[in-house]
Amino acid sequence: MSTTTSPTLPLFPLPSGVFFPEMVVTVAAESDQARELLARRSTGEELVAVPQRDGVYSTIGVVVRIEQRGKLPGGVDGVVLRALRRVRIGRGEVDDDGTLRVSVSELSAPEPSAEVRALAVKYRAVAEQLLEAIGARRFAAELDIDDPGALADTIGWWPDLSDERRLELFETVDVTARLTLALEWAQEALAEARVASDIAEEVNGDLGRTQREVILRRQLAAIRKELGESDDGEDELAEYRRRIDEGELPEPVAAAAVKELDRLERMGEQSMEAGWVRTWLDTVFEVPWNTRTDDLLDLDVARVQLDADHAGLDRVKERIIEFLAVRTLRTERQVDAGESSGHRKGSGTILALVGPPGVGKTSLGQSVADTLGRRFVRMSLGGIRDEAEIRGHRRTYVGARPGRIARAMVDAGSMNPVVLLDEIDKVGADWRGDPSAALLEVLDPAQNATFRDHYLETELDLSEVVFIATANTLDSIPAPLLDRMEIVPIEGYTEDEKVAIALDHLLPGLFERNGVHDDEVVVPPEVVRTVVADYTREAGVRRLEQRLDRLVRRAISAMVQDPARQQVVITHDDLRPALGSTSLREDPAERTVVPGVATGLAVTGAGGDVLFVEAAALDPGSEAGLTLTGQLGEVMKESGQIALSYLRANRSDLGISDDVDLDRRFHVHFPAGAIPKDGPSAGITMTTALVSVLSNRRMRPDVAMTGEVTLQGRVLPIGGVKEKVLAAHRAGITEVILPRGNGQDIDEIPEHVREAVTIHLVDDVPAVLDLAFL
Ligand code: ADP
Repeated sequence: MSTTTSPTLPLFPLPSGVFFPEMVVTVAAESDQARELLARRSTGEELVAVPQRDGVYSTIGVVVRIEQRGKLPGGVDGVVLRALRRVRIGRGEVDDDGTLRVSVSELSAPEPSAEVRALAVKYRAVAEQLLEAIGARRFAAELDIDDPGALADTIGWWPDLSDERRLELFETVDVTARLTLALEWAQEALAEARVASDIAEEVNGDLGRTQREVILRRQLAAIRKELGESDDGEDELAEYRRRIDEGELPEPVAAAAVKELDRLERMGEQSMEAGWVRTWLDTVFEVPWNTRTDDLLDLDVARVQLDADHAGLDRVKERIIEFLAVRTLRTERQVDAGESSGHRKGSGTILALVGPPGVGKTSLGQSVADTLGRRFVRMSLGGIRDEAEIRGHRRTYVGARPGRIARAMVDAGSMNPVVLLDEIDKVGADWRGDPSAALLEVLDPAQNATFRDHYLETELDLSEVVFIATANTLDSIPAPLLDRMEIVPIEGYTEDEKVAIALDHLLPGLFERNGVHDDEVVVPPEVVRTVVADYTREAGVRRLEQRLDRLVRRAISAMVQDPARQQVVITHDDLRPALGSTSLREDPAERTVVPGVATGLAVTGAGGDVLFVEAAALDPGSEAGLTLTGQLGEVMKESGQIALSYLRANRSDLGISDDVDLDRRFHVHFPAGAIPKDGPSAGITMTTALVSVLSNRRMRPDVAMTGEVTLQGRVLPIGGVKEKVLAAHRAGITEVILPRGNGQDIDEIPEHVREAVTIHLVDDVPAVLDLAFL
């Protein structure tokens, strides 16, 4: 055996147990030392894991690579480690950042001798028989390993092997010696397994199944005692068997569970694998296999409930009622057809509530569950990049657990809950697999009755679940998923609607949460209106709710300080001290005091918004072209180029004097650079900003615009008219320029907003400029 020296690696102490090469293990950083060590290491880095015997480090360790890091259930930091190869540990030293590093020397095995090859063949044969004896033949493929040393390591997986022996195996570097150990122990285990099956055969005779089990179990207990293993857990296993006998698990699941129980009984209590099997059994029993709630499908009641929970949103409620009506109809037909409730399949369509944050998507989902009398679970999909998050990890993965879908069913406690797939637009894909493919299966009525969770290893019937998705935008939802969904847009609220929501829903909720009566704390409507107008700038009511919460708590603290006080009325004077002095509103009047700024309207993930497009002309003589900044998408960039080309071709008509040089560099910037923006609808705004800077004219502060522009200067229709006009109204704009082609969209704008905002429909850029400039 030759050794070569390699550089030092950080030492990762293993307080108990060992890892063999090829193992992938999840480790919780429980000690301070481990936490500190892991905090300084990143994914992909290699460490050397060293086992200990009675607190003394072994001279053999295993190089491990950090595959993944994250939080384990319970919030502990954890890492997934992949064990690579054995190494011999040399001297240790503490480096500058306090990490203990040890030098490691690689161990290279010589070409296997004839003796080694013969041992390997023998060991494989015994190990196969052993697997056969315990009814685990399917694992035999795991023994197809060419490297004799690695083959010997497979005995390390045997659950009944003591920790002492496992460590001995690990430390035996010499392959002949290691195989000899493995063979000896495999033979021992095989003999034991045979004894057990002989006993089984003896009692097999004419005894009934239950009697046989009782006898076998007694004998197992006796054997265990002899071996000095405790018999804790016996009752627990009996309890599991009782629950299976009572039919708590459906057929295929019960069969799998019985198999695992059998395995568990043969394992040592202390073995690591016994822990995993227990966790698996616990999880399987947590799934509410046989629990269903009865639907209340009364459409009149549903309507009343939806109205009681949410102000406004008439069209959205209409769609939800339609959705419920279709369900009712189908259920009635299925009842007529004599199908049992367990086989009634869910609806093919998935409602997708799409709109900015805080417009009530989540709470509508809750309302639907309430009207149906179903349990409700919210499953946040934001930032999920790993298919295993949806489907679970395979059980062979240490620290594996079921996926979110299975967990949602456990949380719901019934097989027919309403599951809200929150932020379905924020699901991403990377090398760990595409979660949206798994989601597609979840949402497909043809497949979701047999959804497979990798961890549970059984089928989960999701066909009775009502799925409702939410999203901020449709842009980032993969097309196949989108095809499954019925989109219900929620645009956002007007000022009046917000005031009504605040008075009828948000404040009563806040009073209840804070334990006060509505006659103790009073927030008058005109104060609410000021909060809406000056202290929030959003399409939904989330911030509004936070602001009101602050006001309510301020009132409560005033009452606490003066116990004689019976009532606190919030006034305008309280707003500044409670909510701060800066209102969030960006004032168009302030932004447009210089030429080169144009007020545009856009729809982002946060709803409609007013944005100020800034244009600058760089030094004459600079390299001709256009620089665009502010996280713009491709379409938006093209639309900037079109604006500039149009300008160059039509300079005289646009009032740009001849001595202005257009063959230089221009810069157009969209503030709020962190928010990605795309689409053609800022075309006329960019054009206006450029003309403004080149002709030195200022834009009117009370005007905003949106529209696509062509090379001929025509103005083409765009989307999101309602959101955009609402946003303009919120910002105090009184005139909005829209493409002529959007004429019919004006009907969607609420009456009182249409009264407050003058809409100009235009055909071309000159018409825009006529209206835009002072
Ligand atoms: P989203 O899921 O769209 O982000 P939420 O459902 O969390 O929004 O809504 C935020 C808060 O606003 C909740 O307390 C919700 O009850 C309330 N809310 C939103 N819209 C309405 C409405 N139309 N009527 C009553 N309350 C509403």
